[in-house]
Amino acid sequence: MKRGILKIQEDNTAVLYYGGKRLKFNPVATKIMTSILEKTCICKDKYINLNEISSELRIPTQYVLEFVQELIQKGILSGELKHHFLIVFDEISKKIKVAREGSLLYVEWLITSLCQCRCIYCRHEKYKLGANLELSTKEALNVIKQMADMGVVYVTLSGGEPLIRKDIFKIINELYQHDIEIRLDTNGLLLDKKTITQLARFRDLLTLSISLDSSIPEINETIRVCSPGSTQKIMKSIGEAKATDIIVNISTILTKKNANIINITELYNFLSKNSVDTWTISFVRPFGRAREIWSEIGVLPTDTPEVSLNIIKLMKESTRPTIQFLLNSKELATFLRLNHSRLLSSPTDISSLKICEHCTKGAFLHITPWGDVLPCLNLPENMVRVGNLRISSLRELWERSKSENLIHNKKIVDLLEDCKSCRYLNVCRGGCRAQALQFNGSLTKCDPITRNKLEFLFTHVKNVPLKK
Ligand code: SF4
Ligand code: SF4
Repeated sequence: MKRGILKIQEDNTAVLYYGGKRLKFNPVATKIMTSILEKTCICKDKYINLNEISSELRIPTQYVLEFVQELIQKGILSGELKHHFLIVFDEISKKIKVAREGSLLYVEWLITSLCQCRCIYCRHEKYKLGANLELSTKEALNVIKQMADMGVVYVTLSGGEPLIRKDIFKIINELYQHDIEIRLDTNGLLLDKKTITQLARFRDLLTLSISLDSSIPEINETIRVCSPGSTQKIMKSIGEAKATDIIVNISTILTKKNANIINITELYNFLSKNSVDTWTISFVRPFGRAREIWSEIGVLPTDTPEVSLNIIKLMKESTRPTIQFLLNSKELATFLRLNHSRLLSSPTDISSLKICEHCTKGAFLHITPWGDVLPCLNLPENMVRVGNLRISSLRELWERSKSENLIHNKKIVDLLEDCKSCRYLNVCRGGCRAQALQFNGSLTKCDPITRNKLEFLFTHVKNVPLKK
C-alpha cells in the first residue's frame, strides 16, 4: 500500500507527500482533505456526504466536488463520485496520515546493541554496552504508545541486529497495531523461513531492509564480518522474503573493497532477478570504526567516477529495483532535472535555511538501546543528547530537542561562513555538520564529503543523458 503524509503548516496550508508526489494545498483544500480523512478514520464512513462537508466548512459544494474529483484523477483518493456522495473504495485514513508542522514524524530506534557481525565500518560500536541496560519489553511498548499519541508515522528499527531481541515481534506488532509504518534494518542472518513468515503478517506496513555489500562472498565477508557462508544464506533469504511479497530494500555501502563495476553489476543482476523493490547505495561515512581505518576503506565519488556513473546509468534504466544513490534521491532528481547552470547560479534565499534540515526534516529523532534521545547519531553526544526516556516522556524530549538543541536550530547564515558564498549551496544546503567536524575539525566549516559528491555531479554527470 502506498503511504502518505498530509503535513499542515502554521498558515493552514498543507503539503501532501504521497506516492513520490508533493502536492501543495491551500487552506480551503486542506480543510476539505482533513475533513474527508476524519470522517473515514473516526466514523469509518464508506459513503461521504459532500454536501455535509460543504455546509460544515462553509465552502460551496461545487468547489468540494471539483476538488474531490481532482483527488480521484490524481490517484490520491480511490473512490467514485455519485451525485453528492463520495464512495470510498479503500481505507484512505490508513494511507494518509495528518501531521502538524513541528510534530515528531520519524524515529530511528536502535532497539538493541547486540549483533553477530563486526562490519568494518560499524557506526554503533559505542552502543555495545550489554543487553541488561537496554529498554525492557514493557518500557519499549510504553515508548511506542507515546509515539502513537504524538502521531509518529514511521519507525526504523535498527541496532545492532534487531532480530536478536527475543521480543522483537511484540515490538513490531505494537507498532503495527498503532498503524505506524516500520522499516526493519537487518543483517539478514536470522531470516529463516519461520521468521520471514512471521514478518509477512505485517507486510502492508513493513519494509525489510537487508544489508548486502556484494553478491561475491569473498568481498561481502571481508566487509560484513560475520560467519563464513553468511553471504549465500542472506541471498537465499532475500529470495524467500520476496516470495512472500514483503517489500524488500537492499542497503549497500561503498568502500574501497567493493566500489568496482564488476561488483555493482553482479549485485544489480541478482537484485533485479529477485525483484527486489529498492536498492539504497551510499558511500561509507567517516564515523565509528570507519573513521579509525578511513585510509584503508574510505572512498569518495571523485575517486571512482566510473562506478558512480555506472550506478547513475542503472538508476535511470532500472524499473526494479528502484535505486537511490548519492545525495538523497530528491536532491539527485532535482539535479538531474534542472539545468546545471541554473542550479549553480540561481540565488537561494538562505536567510531561513537551517543547518541539517535536509537530514532531520525538522521531524526526526533517534533513540539508543537504553533510551537516550538524540537528534543526530553522528555528532558528539555531549553536543546533542536531549535526555533519557526512563526519566522524561518522549513529548518532553521532543519539545526540548526543538527548543534547546545546540546545533540543529541554528541558521546557516548565522553559523556557516564558508557556505554563504558557496556555488553549491543550492543543492548542498550546508552539508553534514558531523562530517565537517570529522574532517575539518570545526562545526562551522565546509563538509568536504558532500562537497566531493557535488564536484563529481557538476563535473561528470552533466554529460549523462536524462531519462525521457
Ligand atoms: S559545499 Fe561546503 S561550503 Fe558549500 S554549501 Fe556545502 S558545506 Fe557549505
Ligand atoms: S550532522 Fe549530519 S548526520 Fe547529523 S543531523 Fe546534521 S546532516 Fe544529519
